Parts: sequence; structure tokens; C-alpha cells
Amino acid sequence: MPKKKIPNIPAQKQPRPSAQHKQTSLAESEVTLSTPLESVIRINTIHKKALARLRIVTVGDILYHFPTRYGDTSEVKNIASLTQGETAVVFGKISNLETSKGFKTKLTMATGHITDDTGTLQAVWFNQPYLAKMIQDGSLVRIDGKVSERKKGAKKGQLYMSNPKIEVVHKVPLGVGNSLFGESGEEHTLYPVYPESRGISSLWIYHAVERIFKTGILERIHDPLPDFIRAKYNLPSISTALIWIHTPKKETDAAAARKRFSFEEIFFIQLQKKKDRKEFEQEPSWSIRVNENEVQKFVERFPFTPTDAQLRAIQAILNDLKKGYAMSRLLEGDVGSGKTAVAAASVYAVTTSTPTGRQFGHLQTAYMCPTEILATQQFESFISYFSFLPINIGLITGSGCRKFPSKLNPKGWTDISRAQFLKWVASGDIHIVVGTHALIQKTVKFKNLAYTIIDEQHRFGTSERKKLARKDAALPHLLSMTATPIPRTLALTLYGDLDLTLLDSMPPGRKPVITDIVPPNIESREAVYEKIRRELEAGRQAYVICPRIDEPDPTREMSVIAKSVIAEAERLRTTVFKGYSIGVLHGKMTPDQKDQAMLDFKNGKTHILCATSVVEVGVNVPNANSIIIEGGERFGLAQLHQLRGRVIRGNHQPYCYVFTDSTSEKTAERLSALRSAHNGFELAEYDLKFRGTGDLYGTKQWGISDIGMEALQNIKIVEAARTEAGAILEDDITLNKFPHTQAELELRHTEPLHFE
Ligand code: ADP
Ligand code: MG
Repeated sequence: MPKKKIPNIPAQKQPRPSAQHKQTSLAESEVTLSTPLESVIRINTIHKKALARLRIVTVGDILYHFPTRYGDTSEVKNIASLTQGETAVVFGKISNLETSKGFKTKLTMATGHITDDTGTLQAVWFNQPYLAKMIQDGSLVRIDGKVSERKKGAKKGQLYMSNPKIEVVHKVPLGVGNSLFGESGEEHTLYPVYPESRGISSLWIYHAVERIFKTGILERIHDPLPDFIRAKYNLPSISTALIWIHTPKKETDAAAARKRFSFEEIFFIQLQKKKDRKEFEQEPSWSIRVNENEVQKFVERFPFTPTDAQLRAIQAILNDLKKGYAMSRLLEGDVGSGKTAVAAASVYAVTTSTPTGRQFGHLQTAYMCPTEILATQQFESFISYFSFLPINIGLITGSGCRKFPSKLNPKGWTDISRAQFLKWVASGDIHIVVGTHALIQKTVKFKNLAYTIIDEQHRFGTSERKKLARKDAALPHLLSMTATPIPRTLALTLYGDLDLTLLDSMPPGRKPVITDIVPPNIESREAVYEKIRRELEAGRQAYVICPRIDEPDPTREMSVIAKSVIAEAERLRTTVFKGYSIGVLHGKMTPDQKDQAMLDFKNGKTHILCATSVVEVGVNVPNANSIIIEGGERFGLAQLHQLRGRVIRGNHQPYCYVFTDSTSEKTAERLSALRSAHNGFELAEYDLKFRGTGDLYGTKQWGISDIGMEALQNIKIVEAARTEAGAILEDDITLNKFPHTQAELELRHTEPLHFE
């Protein structure tokens, strides 16, 4: 490994290999990726806890713990030269370190002074109570942050840094504090900056990585990417890439390494998905004899003219059903784009097909919804689509079971016992079963389950699919439907095992939501409240969305505390919307409480629903035609679009008011994209392009690491990964020819960190 010069690393602190050797009994040549880190590096209890938080256990884990960025010694400034608004790195001694508690907000606040040869800078940290304990007065530190200026008070005009990153160092890099600037031949050196965790510094991680490199491990690890793929896309080998990503000499080397690892991650996700898909294709499925004329007649009965997008989607599904192996398709379409009608047409094709070898009877469909209210709603839609046929439809949720038609009332449904319901599902007499998660319980056994539809369930994966299929029976066809606006690269990655159909147009005649971006001043806001009061008077309902539930927001300074649902509901009740009944809905309520809150709103018992973004996965309340979104700048555009989708169901002109706390023009410009976009998927692309992957809808839940996310910026990488994963499995699903690839796939697949 080439020796790198890194600032802030005192030479005498670097462990000498021979000294280090005595700590462990393990021979250096035995260190592999799966060796516990502890047997290579001495780890104290603080580090141990921090490593656990970072999910670093083995040597491989830390080598795959990549820097988030690289610092450059040329970013280092001396204090006297700082100007307001710039981001800078400063080295100095810290003094007057104090912690206090905010009088009103109860947030802890730490303050301190940083002094170098040229001056003193103030620093303040919010909500980091541990800081004063971790750092001793008088230590030499490196801080990294944005320089601000005090606007008022006795200290007006003084510069300070708010929430800078801070790290204790043992040595100031060469030149800092005396004549760093203006000196010719100034050295630019890159150093890695790692995602840190309390108790462990970036520098510690860097040392650990260096130590591991010294064991010679890089000569022993096998590249999980096949050589021919690396050659084709010009990707560095695993050992080169590890050196380049942790200790790059040049930005371009770091970039090449990052590209390799992001390709690698996406490639392995694709590989797993494609493998699942192939396995599914090899299993026997239900052959559906699709009678296209009949389906067309069914579609003609719709109370509306289907859009071209709907017709294309129906056709794609019918083609799949005829293929002889199980369909795996994802239907993506904004809220209101008419996915139910597409689903109904395909269910018709399946239901009217008889089980193999039989002249009568019906194949069964399971339709799964994320919430009880949605399940009930879809049960009713299916009744309206199928009531003219001799088809039995059932509903199963946590609160009970229903069946249509009822014996006593052939036009309506009736409550039935769970036992009876399960019996009829098992005998094949209920043909379309709508339900919540209750559907995949073991007790629910189908006789001829040929088709499964999942409505808006991010987490429905291979294992759930297997749960639904009976062991001895053929694999059901699968249609997954989503309105979650994610960019195409992410969809291709997450749904590598599914074929994609996009419903990219809305049914005609919809009134577009009139969207206003409302700046932070009392007059503008009051004008909106006045408009909403008029709508309420006319009998409409409204949503108010707030960013938080009840705690103050730790990521912000004391000035603006983001609106919390509970406090805001109280404020609306007592001042803005006096005389109206206000409901509350947030993620910390139990499912029953949530359902009740939604039901009260749906039935008009509450006029205004004050909620967090949980309201998204949504319910149809056609009478609600206005939505206010507080702190709009804190949401991605795609999510804002999802939220405003709540008000497009009725016949009344819908309104969306995005309140922002930001006066920045850039924010206003970004938010105004909401007014011109055609669909949520377009906005998701916009979010990706302008704000990066961090703001993507639901980022945390996708199970993709930060480096994997980097690939999502680049459709070429994603497509290449997808193509290669497909090609390598094409000849041989076992991957026997690529044992290192095979081993890595297994490792990643069993590791909960990566994918569910
Ligand atoms: P989503 O895609 O959000 O599931 P739905 O299937 O619930 O949307 O459809 C929303 C509403 O639009 C329903 O009331 C449905 O009857 C109606 N609808 C669906 N397709 C059309 C169409 N082509 N023209 C007019 N209305 C339609
Ligand atoms: Mg729907």
C-alpha cells in the first residue's frame, strides 16, 4: 500500500507493525474480511459501542465503511480570514466550553471558543449534551462548519459557527496558524471524512483502516465482481478501489472507486432480485385462458372511458397472464390515476378462468391493502365492478369478515364469522378476497389462489409472496401497485424482479390542484386561513399537515421550532378555526386510534384533520378540498405531491397551500416545480437531480447504503448493473462459474443490514 501523507496524523502516533503484533495472537496473514475487528485492533468499550452503532463488527465491515467525503488541507482557514457565509475548516485550541439548557425550549446548548494564532471564533452546538463531556477544555480541535454572523444583541457583528463538526486532534497540519496562505507550493492533500458516531472519530476509523491495510489483506481478497464485467465498465479491482476510496491521491481516483462500489452494490441487489425472479419463472403457475373479447366487454361496462394508459396497462397484464409462468409486474401511477380499474379488469380475466382441468368454478384472487379503511374501500369498489356476475367477494381485516353477496340481501354484503369466512376461502367459494395483512396469516388457506394484488405495500417481498402461495400449489401471479413517487433508477433497483408499467396520465376532467407557495408572513398566511374558513362554511373539510408530532425539533436552532401536530391542533382550535372540530392524526397513535381519527374525518365528525405525513397512504375523503402543508421546504417535492393527492378525489376545486419558513429564493423556486409537474414520478426525478438522494422519498426504508444511492444519480450505472446481473444468471442461475460472486451474494443476502 502506498504510504499517504494525511494531515492531523502525528507520525509518532502511527502504530508500528511489530508493536501492534503483540496485541493479538492472530497472524497478520490470517486476517480476512470476516475476521472480527477486535482481533486486529485494540478496541476499548467506548469504541466498541460506537462501532456497534455503525454496525461494524468485522474487518470487512470497516473496509466497507466508506468516507462520505474527502477533506482537502487547502480548505483550512485561519480564523482572522473567515467571512460570513463560508464553509471552512479551522484548527485551534478550545476554551470556555460550557453547557446550558434553553430556558423555553429545554434544548441543551454547548458553547466554546476556538483560538488560533490569528484570532478567536465562537462556536455553539445545540442538543449535543455529550459534547462538553467528550472534549476537554484546552484540547486542540479541528472544527468544520459554516460561518455565521450575529445579527442582534451585544455581540452583533461577531462571527460564529453553529453546530460545526468537531474532532480532537493531536497536531495541526503543517503550515496552519502561521503562514498557510499565500505560500507557494502549498500542498493539497486529501483526507477521508467518515460518517462518525458518538465516541468514535473519523480519524480513529482512518487509523483502523490503515492498520488493516498493513496486514496485507488487500493481496488476499477476492474480487466479487467478475473480471470481464470490471473490464467492460473500466472499474478498478477491489484492492485498488479500497485504497482509492480510503486514501485517494486524487479526486478522480476516489470517484472511480466510489463508482465501482456503487455499481457493486446495485449489481448485487439486481442479482438477488433477478435470481428470485428466475426461480419464480421456473415454478409452475396458473395458466389463465384469457378471453380478450370478454375482458373488453367488462371494460366497456366501466362508468367512464378508460385512459390510454389504463388500456396499455391492462394489455400488458393480460399478456403476462398468458405466458405460462407467474407474472411479476409493478403498476406505478399517481394517486387517482385509476389503478383499481386496471386491477379489476385483470381480476375479471383471472376469476372467469376455470381451474385447470375443470369445466366450472373460479380461480381466486387475493387483494391486499395497507390499512383497514383502504381494504374496506376496495371491497366496495370490487362489489361495484363485479356485482353483475355470480362472483363472491370477501373482506378480511383485524375487525372481522364480510361477504358479498349476502343471502338475505343479494345486493349487499353481510358480516360473517371468521370461521365461516376461512372455510369458504379454503373451499374456493369466495373468489375475490380483499384484506389487510390479515390475509397472509397461516390460517387463511386458499383453494385456487391464482392471483395476488398488493396495493401500496413497500415491504411486500419474496418471503410474503411465498407465504401466500400454498406449498403444494402453483405460484400465484403477482401485481404490485404503487403511487409512491420514486425515480426510475430507484424503481429499477428495488423492483429488479418486476416488470414495470407506468400509468402516466390522469383521467380527463380532473380539476388540477391549485397550488400556492405561501411565504412566512402573517398577512399571507391569514389570507389562506380566510379562504379555508370560507370553504369550511360551504361545508368542505381541510387537512393541515405539520412536520412533527410533539417534540421540538433538534435539528434547528432555537429561532423556529417546527410546528408540531399537537400544539398546532390546539392553536387552530382556539384561534384560527374557532367553532370547528379538529382531529389529530400522527404516527405515534395506535392503528385503532388512527383508523378512528380517519373515520371521524371521513364521516364529517371532524372538520379539519391536523396530521403528520402519515396521512399520505391515503383514504378517500372527497369532501376535503384544501390542504395546508406547514414547513413545506422540509419535504421532498414528491412527498409534497403525495400529500396534496389527498384533496383530488372530489368534485370540488382542490387547493394546496405550501407554507414555508424559508425566505430563500431557491426554496421558492424549487417548490414552484409543484405547480408545473405532470406527475409524482417527474417530481421524484427533480428531487434526485436537485437535492440528491438524501431527500428521496422514504430513503431510509429502501435498504440501500449511501454509496449505493450514489449510483441512482446515474441511469447508466443502474442499467449496466441490471443488464449484467441478468446476463450472468442467464446461462447459469447457480453462479457456479463465479464462486466469489456467489459467495458475496450469499453474504449480502443473509445480512439484515442490506435487504429485507
Ligand atoms: P388510484 O390509482 O389512486 O388507486 P383509483 O383507482 O382509486 O385511483 O381511481 C380514482 C377515481 O378515479 C375512482 O373514483 C375511479 O372510479 C375514477 N377513475 C378511474 N379511471 C377513470 C377514468 N379513466 N376516467 C374517469 N374516472 C376514472
Ligand atoms: Mg388505489
